[in-house]
Amino acid sequence: MDGAQLSQATTGEWTDPKARDVGTTVEEFLTRLGGPTWIVLSGQDPSRTRAVTTLLHGNEPSGVRAIFQWLRSGTRPHVNLACFIGAVDAALAQPGFAYRQLPDCRDLNRCFRMPFEGREGRMAAGVLDTLRTINPEALVDFHNTSGRSPAYGVTTRLGEPQKALTALVSDHLIVTDLRLGTLMEATEDDFPTITAECGGGDARSDQTAMTALRTYGMAESLWDAPHRYAHVKTFHHPIRVSLEAGKRVAYGASLVPEADLTLRKDADQFNFGVLNQGETLGWVRDASPGVVVARDAKGRDRTREMFAVIEGRLVVAQPARIMMMTTNPHIAVSDCLFYCLPVSSSEL
Ligand SMILES: [Zn+2]
Repeated sequence: MDGAQLSQATTGEWTDPKARDVGTTVEEFLTRLGGPTWIVLSGQDPSRTRAVTTLLHGNEPSGVRAIFQWLRSGTRPHVNLACFIGAVDAALAQPGFAYRQLPDCRDLNRCFRMPFEGREGRMAAGVLDTLRTINPEALVDFHNTSGRSPAYGVTTRLGEPQKALTALVSDHLIVTDLRLGTLMEATEDDFPTITAECGGGDARSDQTAMTALRTYGMAESLWDAPHRYAHVKTFHHPIRVSLEAGKRVAYGASLVPEADLTLRKDADQFNFGVLNQGETLGWVRDASPGVVVARDAKGRDRTREMFAVIEGRLVVAQPARIMMMTTNPHIAVSDCLFYCLPVSSSEL
């Protein structure tokens, strides 16, 4: 049995569920799914399909809440909607929507590349197989950010379709070359794909996802109204800022003694904002910015160009826009601290 067959054997499929079948809460809905599931809704125009994926991270609920609300409404989409709901077990683990992945599992959204090994690798291969069979007009992968943030889109391939998809959630689109094994990388040559980051998982993020899903599912065409996405602003190739291996990070109002780096506990308020040269991101124990490593998509070390230490404070060495900042220490260590981009004086 190859990986795709095995994955299909462990992934459920539910076609045109009735409103009464999905339960009264999203938790009940997930319990009824019992595991990763494709939900397929037949459209008024059954010749076309749009794809949605969500809950690749179990602690990012806005996408699945939107799908649940849609199913409760009993609305028939304009075209077929194929929705993959991923880490159901991680989402259901108590206290609910708390685990990005279960402790003994891999981050599913880092598994969409060779060699597709292990449970998550096989699941990723199965999802890609199904998507390529469906051959949708587009794919939107709904996520939540791990800190407070405005909504934004992410793409590895910039074109008008990716801007159009981003406009469903935001007018900010990050274009990145980074190769992490995410779903959007795997399908960029197949059909227009974006990651839709709906914000930090509060009621506003849920509303963003719901509005986006409704527009996506009901639009006659996704591409025929360029004025709708003309305002989308693109941010190219942000620099990934991670913690030096073996160092410890904390979040606080001043240096936490046992941490090598303390980032401001309100650091996520900077998301998409611009810091002026010399503005404080946090505090460091050593007099060197080397506790963080800033690397661009080409792998170049940009740390000392972007950061400096002044009297124990970690500051930006030039005007910089901060993006994708988390205030969750676990994600900060296992993934990265944040991304940044130098801001030219003409943009200030
Ligand atoms: Zn995510």
